[in-house]
Amino acid sequence: MKKRKKKVDRLRLFSQFILIYMLLAFLWWAVLLIKKNNELFHATAQSKELIWQAEGNNGSFELTSEYQSLVDKRDKQFWMVLGEGSVFVIALMIGIWFINRGYQREIDTIRQKRNFLLAITHELKSPLASISLILETLQTRRLERSHQENLAKHGIKETERLSALVENLLLSSRLDKSFTPVFETTDLYGLIEEVSEDIKRIRPEADIRLLSSEEKPILAKVDIQGFQSVMFNLIENALKYSDPGSPVEIEITSKKEETIIKVRDQGIGIPPGERQKIFQQFYRSGHEETRSTKGTGLGLYIVSKMMEYHGGKIHVESNTPKGSTFVLRIPKK
Ligand code: ADP
Repeated sequence: MKKRKKKVDRLRLFSQFILIYMLLAFLWWAVLLIKKNNELFHATAQSKELIWQAEGNNGSFELTSEYQSLVDKRDKQFWMVLGEGSVFVIALMIGIWFINRGYQREIDTIRQKRNFLLAITHELKSPLASISLILETLQTRRLERSHQENLAKHGIKETERLSALVENLLLSSRLDKSFTPVFETTDLYGLIEEVSEDIKRIRPEADIRLLSSEEKPILAKVDIQGFQSVMFNLIENALKYSDPGSPVEIEITSKKEETIIKVRDQGIGIPPGERQKIFQQFYRSGHEETRSTKGTGLGLYIVSKMMEYHGGKIHVESNTPKGSTFVLRIPKK
């Protein structure tokens, strides 16, 4: 991956060099052209003046209309070179900008993929190592019942984490290629309640509050599994990027045309410059080496893709006094 980045960097430098060379060469040609134009003007003016004098005319040749038309022609040529040159330079600059943007995107993708590989390796290895250690301890040591139970609970948590990760990996690759949603009328309130309960089993300390003054059930046509995954990822993120014990509120409002779900947390928040990027596949803020929270950069990609399949929309805004609010809009078809 590093080799590929180096190659892209080299290509970028090379193409920038070529473009700058073209720009300088063109500027040189433009200067030469203007110079030649001036020389031609002086030569023509001189010869015309000689003919004019030979015809017996007196006074200043520069005051004649013939001389003026030569000046006009020279100026016209000059502006033509300048005009066409500017268009060429602007086109070249736009070209440079496009090439740079293309390379930058390529470099970002390479970096994100590299981060993803680092993250996924860690995310897969660490629960497996914990589970294997727990099983070994249970096998080799005679422990008290309560201790055994604690270890088993921890093992189950790690297994569920692993299973959620594998679920995200599979879903993300299916969303890229072959996902066909199956829409069913379902109670969104009940679905979110179930997901919250599932999360609380892994994180008993989680403070998830489901708010809605709407009459229950709140019906909507969704792909049930897909939508469970949407809610799971949003609630998990809200908890993951907040202090332990910090509340996460989920508010459901049913409008005539759409159902609106808001997932609010009081966590670290998302800077405005990143609010679009976080929905890209593999995108995570910060560097993998220095990042403290676990993750792969797949969660919000799955959420936004799934919303696309539902003909819905998602965006994020800041919460007051702090944190983020993810807003989902699901149309009532
Ligand atoms: P992951 O959480 O695995 O890194 P996601 O796709 O779920 O990947 O999220 C992408 C990035 O968006 C995260 O790395 C994080 O920086 C940011 N993010 C997502 N949800 C929240 C949130 N509720 N609060 C703050 N930052 C968030």
